[in-house]
Amino acid sequence: VAEIDIIPLESFHKATKQHCAERAVYLELQTQLYGQDMQLVKGKGSTVENDYVNCLNEMIASSTSPEEALLKRCSLYEVENSDGSPAEIGVLEKITCTRQNEFEKHRHNFQNELAGAAAMKQHCGETDTQYAGWVHLVEHNAYGDHEARDAMLGFISDSIRSLGPHKHAPVTDQDVSDLREKKAGLHKMAVEFVVRMRMVRYFAQLKDLEEWSRSSGSGTKQVAPCCCCQKQFQLLDDVLLLGLCGHTLCKDCFRSPKHGGTCAYEGCNGPALEYHATDMEDLINRETTVAGPKHFGSKIADVIKQIETIKAENPEDQILLFVQYRQVMKVIGDAFKAANISFDTITGAEGPARTAEAKALRAFKDKALPVVERKSVLILNASSSCAAGQ
Ligand SMILES: [Zn+2]
Ligand SMILES: [Zn+2]
Repeated sequence: VAEIDIIPLESFHKATKQHCAERAVYLELQTQLYGQDMQLVKGKGSTVENDYVNCLNEMIASSTSPEEALLKRCSLYEVENSDGSPAEIGVLEKITCTRQNEFEKHRHNFQNELAGAAAMKQHCGETDTQYAGWVHLVEHNAYGDHEARDAMLGFISDSIRSLGPHKHAPVTDQDVSDLREKKAGLHKMAVEFVVRMRMVRYFAQLKDLEEWSRSSGSGTKQVAPCCCCQKQFQLLDDVLLLGLCGHTLCKDCFRSPKHGGTCAYEGCNGPALEYHATDMEDLINRETTVAGPKHFGSKIADVIKQIETIKAENPEDQILLFVQYRQVMKVIGDAFKAANISFDTITGAEGPARTAEAKALRAFKDKALPVVERKSVLILNASSSCAAGQ
C-alpha cells in the first residue's frame, strides 16, 4: 500500500531544445534503426556488419526496443569537456575530432581492401564481371554522394597505379568467387564511407556556423554558401543544415517542392525532411553555458534547471523524479552530484541494497529531520513497483 499521501497533480509538458550536436548523434542512431526497419539487430544478426554499425549496435545492445534505444539516446549524452573552452565549442570540437579520426581509420582500411581487390582483378581480367560492375556503380554515383564518389574513384585509380607487374596464370573458379566476395565487402565499406564522410561534413559545417554566429559583425569568418543556389548567407537564421548529409541550404531551396524530401544539392540523395534539418536559430538562441567540466546533455540540464527553480522558490520542497531506465538513473545521479543537488536513488534492487534503499526512503519522508538533512530529490525507477511508494 502506498505510504505517500495523495499528491495534488497539475501536469504540464516542457519541451527540451536539443543542442544540434546532440540532434546529429540522435539522427545517426535513428538512421541506423530505420535501416534495420526499426528492428533491434544486435551483434551477429546484423545484415551489414562494419565498425560503424558495431559501434551503434553497442549503443542499443542494452535496450529491449528501438524506442527505448532512441529515448536513451536523447537523454544520455555525456561529453567530457576538459580544455576550458566554452562548453558548446568543446562539445562540437570533441565530436568533430572523434568522427574525423574514425573516418580516417575507415578510409585507410577501405584503401587497403581496394588495393587487394585491384590485384585480384588484374589476375581475373575479363573473367570477372562483379568487381567491374561495382566500379561502374561507383562511377554512376550509386551511393548518392558526389564528393564521396570522387574520393572513391580516386582510391580505385590509386589501387590500379600501385599494382605490380601482371603475372599471367590460369584463372580458377575459386579466384573469381574470391573476388566476388571481396566486392561484397567493398560495397559495405562504401556505404560506411559515405555515412562517415557525411558526418564529418556535418560537424565541420556546424563548427563553422557556430564560429560564424559568435563572430557576427566582425566579418572575419566565412561560411559555405547554399549548396543549391550558391547564395552567400547574410543571416544565420536563413541557414538550414541537413543532419544526414551535412549540406547547408537556404530556406528557399530546402522548401522548394521540386526536391521532394531529398537534399537539393546536385548528386546528393541525403534525406531532407523537416526533422532532418537543424535550424540555425536554435544554435544562437540556446544558452551556451553549461556548469561544470561535464556536459550531460540538454535534457538533463533542463531537469536540473527545473529542480533549482523549485528549490529557489521553496527550499523545503522535496522532489520525486521518476526515471524509466536504470542506465539513465545512473547518469542523472552523476549530473546531480556535479550540480550539488542532494538525492537518493531507489532502484527497487533486491538483496543488501534493498535495506539501504528502504532506509533512504524513510529518511526522505522523515519530517522530523531538519530540512538541510533531507535529500532534495528522490530518484525512482518508474518501471519498478517501488515507485508506487511501497
Ligand atoms: Zn539556396
Ligand atoms: Zn546533401
